[in-house]
Amino acid sequence: MSVAKGLSGQPFDVTLIDRNNHHLFQPLLYQVATAGLSPADIASPIRHILSGQRNVKVMLAEVDGVDTNVGEVITDVGRVAYDKLVIATGARHAYFGREEWAFYAPGLKSLDDATYLRRRILMAFERAENESDPDERRRLMTFAVIGGGPTGVEMAGAIAELARRALAADFHSIDSRCARVVLVEAAPRVLTPFTEALSEKARHSLEQLGVEVRLGQAVTDCSCSGIRLGNDDIPTRTIIWAAGVMASPAGRWLRAETDRAGRVKVSADLSVPGHTDIFVIGDTAATTGSDGKLLPGVAPVAKQQGEYLARALIARQHGRRAPDFRYRDFGSLATIGRKRAIAQIGRLHLSGLPAWLLWSLAHIYFLIGFRNRFTVALNWGWSYITFERGSRLITGLYARPYEHAASAPQLELHSKAG
Ligand SMILES: Cc1cc2nc3c(=O)[nH]c(=O)nc-3n(C[C@H](O)[C@H](O)[C@H](O)COP(=O)(O)OP(=O)(O)OC[C@H]3O[C@@H](n4cnc5c(N)ncnc54)[C@H](O)[C@@H]3O)c2cc1C
Repeated sequence: MSVAKGLSGQPFDVTLIDRNNHHLFQPLLYQVATAGLSPADIASPIRHILSGQRNVKVMLAEVDGVDTNVGEVITDVGRVAYDKLVIATGARHAYFGREEWAFYAPGLKSLDDATYLRRRILMAFERAENESDPDERRRLMTFAVIGGGPTGVEMAGAIAELARRALAADFHSIDSRCARVVLVEAAPRVLTPFTEALSEKARHSLEQLGVEVRLGQAVTDCSCSGIRLGNDDIPTRTIIWAAGVMASPAGRWLRAETDRAGRVKVSADLSVPGHTDIFVIGDTAATTGSDGKLLPGVAPVAKQQGEYLARALIARQHGRRAPDFRYRDFGSLATIGRKRAIAQIGRLHLSGLPAWLLWSLAHIYFLIGFRNRFTVALNWGWSYITFERGSRLITGLYARPYEHAASAPQLELHSKAG
């Protein structure tokens, strides 16, 4: 998106290929998963965002290879020729070689993941309400979040608030406030990119919300009945994976060198070594900052790389060479529920309400579209006053007849016949 926007009005024909029709603001996905926001509040159709840009063609297609010999991208709807190729296909969950855990411990990357998790979380309370066996009821009302990075911390805090506040008056057989939320982190502290003092404040805030924080303990097993930490079993029906990511398979498409997380090792101008016209940016690229350390997989890195690349391509068009990419770090923010957050902006370290206000303003500012900004601000204002979580809808419980594969050809025939 940043590259395409940066090439607006320039003599380039841009084809933007995405397997989803929407641009998604991932930092607020956890709010959809915990019923604070609706999917449309944090996503916008790509066609709509770029509708005013005459030199961009948007294509809904899934890429599954690149033929570098002839300069073509291979998609599920055919091949697309390119002169210059930018790959920004992001990252997905990683289960450290235990891919079977994906079945029991879904992660959070897409809108579908978020609505699925929302259904799982809300259904756990619904099933507990009807459950007569106290052990099973306890199991249903236990939520395990694996991974103490920003997503895990945000999820754990939001589930605790949902249980303690928004749902508290709605059930009669269970007391949702007794729900157990366990956050498991293998490192000795949560939010490791932040300073130790801020990490400690985040842990304290989580515990104030009623989250049980288990540090220095790695999950050794996940199953439909719970998780295991060494010799300790935690019975639960809801496990959420926020522990690791793996880059998209772009490295394999290009047969390029990658790091352990599958990120393509790119040159300082973000091109792939040996391919001066192919660039990899964002979560799929392994790039280093001025201190030689690997840049984190966060939105500002991806956006700055996209903006840089657009400028570099324009400079190239004019026969100039752009300087190498340099990342400007404006700081990090993480929230731990309503009113609590931490912020690390250079030497400025904030926590509590001031950090939460900064977090809220930053997230509203970076959302795309006036409608989204307005509805999110309104929603947050409302839930700040009332503790309500307005998007507590359980959807997708029943498959529709037309979702069965057997009826699909018939539908196609109908549509072809008009
Ligand atoms: C839950 C969550 C919370 C986060 N919170 C924060 C935060 O608070 N702050 C922050 O800075 N960062 C946060 N991030 C990270 C941030 O969202 C990413 O670093 C950023 O989105 C990376 O941008 P990208 O363009 O590389 O990839 P993405 O934004 O993931 O975009 C990749 C695009 O490629 C498309 N795509 C993928 N594969 C294919 C294919 N084969 N064919 C066609 N299209 C494809 C996808 O549909 C998607 O539109 C969070 C991420 C997640 C998942």
